[in-house]
Amino acid sequence: MQKKGLLRDVIQHLCCLPGVGPKTAQRMAFQLLQRNRDNAKALADILLKALAEIGHCQQCRTLTENTLCEICADPSRDTTTVCVVESPADVWTIEQATLFKGHYFVLNGHLSPLDGIGPDELGLDELEHLLAKGDVKELILATNSTLEGDATAYVINELAIKHKVEASRLASGVPMGGELEYIDRGTLSHAFKGRRKIE
Ligand code: ZN
Repeated sequence: MQKKGLLRDVIQHLCCLPGVGPKTAQRMAFQLLQRNRDNAKALADILLKALAEIGHCQQCRTLTENTLCEICADPSRDTTTVCVVESPADVWTIEQATLFKGHYFVLNGHLSPLDGIGPDELGLDELEHLLAKGDVKELILATNSTLEGDATAYVINELAIKHKVEASRLASGVPMGGELEYIDRGTLSHAFKGRRKIE
């Protein structure tokens, strides 16, 4: 096996993907470079284009190549209900698993003082600005069911109280330590429907 060189570099970079270990990365690299070179070129091109053009939605902070994402730009969506999630992947998960037709607010992380992630990094001032406008009637706190996710939900609930907006948390069924992205559709759909008002 090569200790250095381009092939080695490709394998190493593929290893940064979730669920991809050294063996799988090696198979992917050989597949792309040996048998599937046209597709490898297309993949490299589209990745560069995506990196250059995809940014964050100005309203909800999810990933999009437009100023507003498809959901924020859709006039049929309910602007009075906003679901707060940790990542753009969670938006996709909820869209696929539930019949939610409101808007989202994507934190792009959770409170983690040790990693230097505070309210500014999560856009909480933008969220507060949105609540202050008075259109939002319900905030669904769908942060992960982890210590950090719960702490983040707690802080956002304080904002909701301040602006007299009702806040709810996903019902049981989301396991402790559970990340939304990995919960099966049925469980998430159930937890979503059974969300409870935070007292
Ligand atoms: Zn948006």
